[in-house]
Amino acid sequence: MSSQPDQPIELYRPTWIEIDLDAYARNVDALASRLPQDSRVIAVLKANGYGHGSVQLAQACADRIAMIAVALLEEAIELRRAGINTPILLLGPLTTNQVPVAIAQDIAMGLTGPESLDALVRAHSSLGGAPARVHLKLDSGMGRMGFMPSDLATLADVINANPWISVEGIYTHFANASSPADPYTEVQMERFGRMLGQLRDAGVSAPLHHTSNSAATLRGFVSRGHFVRVGLSLLGGEPLDTGDTRLERVLTWRSSIVRLKEIPAGHPVGYGTTFIASRPSRIATLPVGYADGYNRLLSNRGEVLLRGRRAPVVGRVSMDLVTIDVTDIGLAAPGDPVVLLGRQGDEEISAEEIAAKIGTIPYEVFTSISERVPRVYRTGEDMLVKSGVHPAIERGTGD
Ligand SMILES: *Cc1c(COP(=O)(O)O)cnc(C)c1O
Repeated sequence: MSSQPDQPIELYRPTWIEIDLDAYARNVDALASRLPQDSRVIAVLKANGYGHGSVQLAQACADRIAMIAVALLEEAIELRRAGINTPILLLGPLTTNQVPVAIAQDIAMGLTGPESLDALVRAHSSLGGAPARVHLKLDSGMGRMGFMPSDLATLADVINANPWISVEGIYTHFANASSPADPYTEVQMERFGRMLGQLRDAGVSAPLHHTSNSAATLRGFVSRGHFVRVGLSLLGGEPLDTGDTRLERVLTWRSSIVRLKEIPAGHPVGYGTTFIASRPSRIATLPVGYADGYNRLLSNRGEVLLRGRRAPVVGRVSMDLVTIDVTDIGLAAPGDPVVLLGRQGDEEISAEEIAAKIGTIPYEVFTSISERVPRVYRTGEDMLVKSGVHPAIERGTGD
């Protein structure tokens, strides 16, 4: 893989996320090895690879997967500009203005409904006959994007009348695959099958079908030859509401103690004085806050790892700082490494744990880690490839 020159990460406050690209690659292989014959992985890398860095993840998995899927045109272009030549599917929806750019960048387009189809046909007059590779998205019960059964006759007419539309794939998306107790995924599979039949009878078919996200894939909803669109699972997240299907951890969010003080009983900590020490306490400050994506709902609720043990967040999480109570961790000292998310010693704080505390899902915990947190990429024995460096700091070093 291409390695960027080392950046002056030492000029940053000690807060960063570390991404284990080897673990990501192993997860891709582990997941692929469970698929039926002829089925392959589409790595979903939208939203900057769920905050992990789409270019780096793409480089780590490019020769192991069939395709990359992203949500936005700019996400696809970023990958192409970084030299990623893997097939890319733009999940969309599409606008007319985007179509020529997508075609020029060799990006397959998800057609998510009559509006996308119109956009494609309208754009085509300016394309000089270039073929457009598309994947048809069918609504088998998600109710969000996709063609409804009643749209299919017109869809087939338009496709049959425009031979430059090359239907490469047909797909659908499951609404509740994360809940194994809910039979709705089976219902959607059946509807998808019926809709494929409707299209086939109207003369439209595709060499490729893909239906399953991480949850459905891990539950075995993969027909032979169907591809799977997997995001969270490859990042070591748990896609099932109740389950233990996690692959290897990929991301660790690190920080360290920059201020350690003794406060007497009765002394408050933080905005709103929501925490008042009930005993003489040692309070440590970490240089990370809600502007970094450490959710403010973790005020007086979160925990971090310090010296392999859990230390509670006390007081409000502020924009740039978090305070933790280290009274019970006797040896705690300034400069001590702290883990906000990930493993330290025998303890782990997972994205699922944080998500449960703040009433969300691990996806949002990952995608909330903001751009101002540097990304450090680990690959090989001890090699660190550093990225996400702020231009002001690059200039500051005279580079
Ligand atoms: C995000 C997304 C996926 C991936 O979902 P995971 O649960 O992360 O595997 C698959 N398909 C579509 C259409 C998506 O938007």
